[in-house]
Amino acid sequence: MVSVDATALGSTLPQVVKPARYTGGEWNSVVKDWERTPIKFALAYPDVYEVGMSNLALMILYDILNQQEDALAERVYTPWVDMEQAMRASGIPLYSLESRHPLHEFDIVGFTLPYELNCTNVLTMLDLGGIPLLASERNDAHPLIIGGGSGTYNPEPLVDFFDLFVVGEGEEVILELLQLYRDCGENRNRYLLRAAETDGAYVPSLYEVTYSDDGTVREVSPTHESAKPSITKRIVDSLPPPPTKVVVPFVQAVHDRATIEIQRGCTQGCRFCQAGMIYRPLRQRPQEEILAAADKLLAATGYEELALVSLSSCNYTGIEGLVEQLLARHGPTYTSISLPSLRMDSFSLRLAEMFHGRRKTGLTFAPEAGSERLRRVINKNLNHDDILSTAESAYNSGWHRIKLYFMIGLPTETMEDVEAIAALVNELRAVGRRARGKKAELNVSVATLIPKPHTPFQWIPLEDRASLDEKHHVLRNQIRGRGLKLSWNDPQTSLLEAALSRGDRRLGKVILHAWQAGARFDAWSEALDTQRWWQAFSAQGLDPAFYARRERPLDEVLPWDHISAGVSKEYLVAELRRSLAEEATLDCREGSCRTCGILETFHRDPEAMQQGRWGCVGVQQSAQ
Ligand code: SF4
Repeated sequence: MVSVDATALGSTLPQVVKPARYTGGEWNSVVKDWERTPIKFALAYPDVYEVGMSNLALMILYDILNQQEDALAERVYTPWVDMEQAMRASGIPLYSLESRHPLHEFDIVGFTLPYELNCTNVLTMLDLGGIPLLASERNDAHPLIIGGGSGTYNPEPLVDFFDLFVVGEGEEVILELLQLYRDCGENRNRYLLRAAETDGAYVPSLYEVTYSDDGTVREVSPTHESAKPSITKRIVDSLPPPPTKVVVPFVQAVHDRATIEIQRGCTQGCRFCQAGMIYRPLRQRPQEEILAAADKLLAATGYEELALVSLSSCNYTGIEGLVEQLLARHGPTYTSISLPSLRMDSFSLRLAEMFHGRRKTGLTFAPEAGSERLRRVINKNLNHDDILSTAESAYNSGWHRIKLYFMIGLPTETMEDVEAIAALVNELRAVGRRARGKKAELNVSVATLIPKPHTPFQWIPLEDRASLDEKHHVLRNQIRGRGLKLSWNDPQTSLLEAALSRGDRRLGKVILHAWQAGARFDAWSEALDTQRWWQAFSAQGLDPAFYARRERPLDEVLPWDHISAGVSKEYLVAELRRSLAEEATLDCREGSCRTCGILETFHRDPEAMQQGRWGCVGVQQSAQ
């Protein structure tokens, strides 16, 4: 077992952009004795170093695995295109940053799958790492390839390349899979059969998919007794201690800051939001634990910013008090505190005021839809006056730039709704002008709804190209002027993303074809070539519109139906019907349980839920 030759690397790195992406040796990186550590685990992120280094899930697993005496965990990221070419030219295999061992020398390679358009990077990493791309071509001599993260809620397009998927939260199951490896890791088949019995684990090779004449999935059925008919996501009852000795990157990461997850899950119930469904139930981290972890984390890293992350940090119970205490403890060292997501209401503004202090740059809000009617349809319960008054207070309090997120292609959307986006933006612009004159800025980002699996919108089609183009045209015409910036999604990119996120196993051959044709870094607009992808679909006799732009009957078997996020199909259907009836559903924390299915799926006693600070607790009591 030899690590990559330093001389070869030494002559290659000066030729590529940001060579520090490939050196390793960062502060807090864990380098164990390779020869003396029995189990070698590579944690792989299918994008460049500076994107992967901001991924919290990978940091958590890195910390958990390296606490194991007999295991080591090392990081691997996708080399940028120049480095891939240089590595292929000089025969350098993809290697881990800690010990520079080639990927094929690890026992297990665990990929975090954050986004569908990262799929070809997985193939680049396997190929450069000397590992056969197809699971069917691997044997006991090859590492086990495991996939985790939000991409596993419809893993079907990727099953050809993975031996095993972990659906849901990895903190506990990764140790179970490690124990299994201690027991029978040398024998791949035995390992996979045992893994298939583990809750949350999905071994796709133990299932068969049959299709109906109309091309839809007829059934996904187990072909072995170890395979469960349905795979339910794993959750942790309470959030494990956060990592505090995290690796500090050499290259500025996308999020170059210390990060603590203060809660997991969200129950606001926005109907387009996959994260809001798949990360339920809501679980909060105790304040004292956050304060103690912040002390350790900032001391161990030297970061000047601490981000309190979650899907909706403003909803954390006692968030104001927590921010006050953190500012009191770390303000004197000029450490700033940030919350990535703010609601558009006065409370959030007061909060922003606390941690922005004098340095007021930009605020980000997500009204998502321009009209109140359409906000009810998507269950984003924000009223018009709140949006205007929040922006006015923000500008009057010293902010000069506001970023706004909107979405088009929503169910029941009319051109009036699209024009309502422009009208709202122009109203906000006037508010800004009154408060800050020409200094006021508005950055407007208009995304296209990708109807994702495990959401109430999973049955509706992606909007067609002509209609999207028309709406983009209206927005470009009506949102322009000094201090206004408008960006939107390219409809071709949306078509590819929707097809990959709603696809079935047959897309594996499309992904392989596109990769062989040169597809890399498809999540980067400057690298994505959708023509290459359409050729790959056509070469496989498949049509992306079949997956992306076809309305699906409620009784159709969906490619991901055998994967459960714990939220019931009945609840998703009910929410779809409520959206079409323009009915809002209140956050269950503000009222009573909406029976989304979480409590039925995860039968936990009240004490465990209390200890885990589940959002369901309070609600459950009120329901009785
Ligand atoms: S089970 Fe009830 S209380 Fe818990 S997240 Fe679902 S709707 Fe909310």
